[in-house]
Amino acid sequence: MNVILIGPPGAGKGTQAKFIVENFNIPQVSTGDMLRENVKNNTSLGMEAKKFMDSGELVPDTIILNMMKDRIRKKDCKKGFILDGFPRTTNQADGLTILLNQLNMTIDHVLVLSVHDDIIVERMGGRRVHSASGRVYHIKYNPPKENGLDDVTNDKLIIRNDDKENTVRKRLEIYKNETKPIINYYNNHGIVHNINGESSIDIIKDNIYNLLS
Ligand code: ADP
Ligand code: ADP
Repeated sequence: MNVILIGPPGAGKGTQAKFIVENFNIPQVSTGDMLRENVKNNTSLGMEAKKFMDSGELVPDTIILNMMKDRIRKKDCKKGFILDGFPRTTNQADGLTILLNQLNMTIDHVLVLSVHDDIIVERMGGRRVHSASGRVYHIKYNPPKENGLDDVTNDKLIIRNDDKENTVRKRLEIYKNETKPIINYYNNHGIVHNINGESSIDIIKDNIYNLLS
């Protein structure tokens, strides 16, 4: 089963991807997590990407497509995958189609999570992340067991650099202009499911489970 998660920053893609991983045993492929890992390790890709990420801009398509070509070819993606945060432009969607054609694969489901801007800004203000695993918390809606610490490893949680209100508003604009149009691209294939991302985490989790089962 090959799934794409689309939604504005803060819609809950990462949160829901973790549940899909648990329930369906396929890997989460998050371009955001992969880029942050590269930034942390000071790779040349990371150094190139950082300036875009910090200012809330998209990392150029060629960098992203090269990174994803290597990732989707890996063995663990043979049984399926969840793309979280990719594709984000029509150019990336075209690149993905070409890549999947070469590998004899197709996308089965595109899940679109919708949430209003003001709710997003509130969510991002309270987002806390475990950077090593990509696990996501919220100080009010999904708090860790111990304040500021990851439930599994007890590591310190971080606040992402790009979660400041101004940067979030800019990312929302970019989502509307660059990413939303790709929903139409997949609509033509009849595989798009619209999900109300403003429900509680558990309700969305159940909705997605029922859709994919
Ligand atoms: P969110 O989870 O808040 O939607 P991500 O973690 O997916 O954000 O992405 C963080 C940043 O990483 C983006 O603002 C962008 O700079 C970069 N990024 C992630 N995925 C992509 C992509 N597919 N194309 C271009 N840039 C990306
Ligand atoms: P994305 O990957 O789309 O950027 P996240 O999964 O990181 O989104 O969620 C953004 C923030 O909102 C996190 O702090 C997360 O705990 C919280 N969150 C996710 N889904 C919900 C929800 N349905 N209701 C309230 N808060 C949520």
